[in-house]
Amino acid sequence: MRYRSGIGYDVHQFAKGRPLIIGGITIAHDRGLAGHSDADVLSHAIADAVLGAIGEPDIGYWFPPTDESIEGISSLKILEKAAELVSEKGGRIENIDATLIAEEPKIMPHATAMKEEIAVALGIGSSDVGIKATTNETMGFVGRGEGIAALASASIALPERD
Ligand SMILES: [Zn+2]
Repeated sequence: MRYRSGIGYDVHQFAKGRPLIIGGITIAHDRGLAGHSDADVLSHAIADAVLGAIGEPDIGYWFPPTDESIEGISSLKILEKAAELVSEKGGRIENIDATLIAEEPKIMPHATAMKEEIAVALGIGSSDVGIKATTNETMGFVGRGEGIAALASASIALPERD
């Protein structure tokens, strides 16, 4: 096998009247994230990391925001699609690591549940999914509580080229 790595970054703005869904988990909060899908910023960053590692275009290509049929879809479906593309190449997702950057709400109480959801969607073990969280120390748009950002990396094993 040859080992590939990928990175992903995503950010969504807070919006009133939306559920807050991160890593497939709905978190009780006074605001959710704006977006065409369920705006799951963590799942989007992870999907882009997986897609990047296998040299595929990002999630905007596979799930264009102009496609009305995907409005409000669970982003776990996006993760499933990314995992499917890895499988089609005969590859295997080795591990995922991710960091959420948010002033609020507290992420870590939900991290175990998020890891489970993400692991199932990707077809890997929950111990192969890392989730960490930090604040932006009150600086910038994240620091002002305007939204949430997420960073992710993916390590993937692909068969040798023939
Ligand atoms: Zn997104």
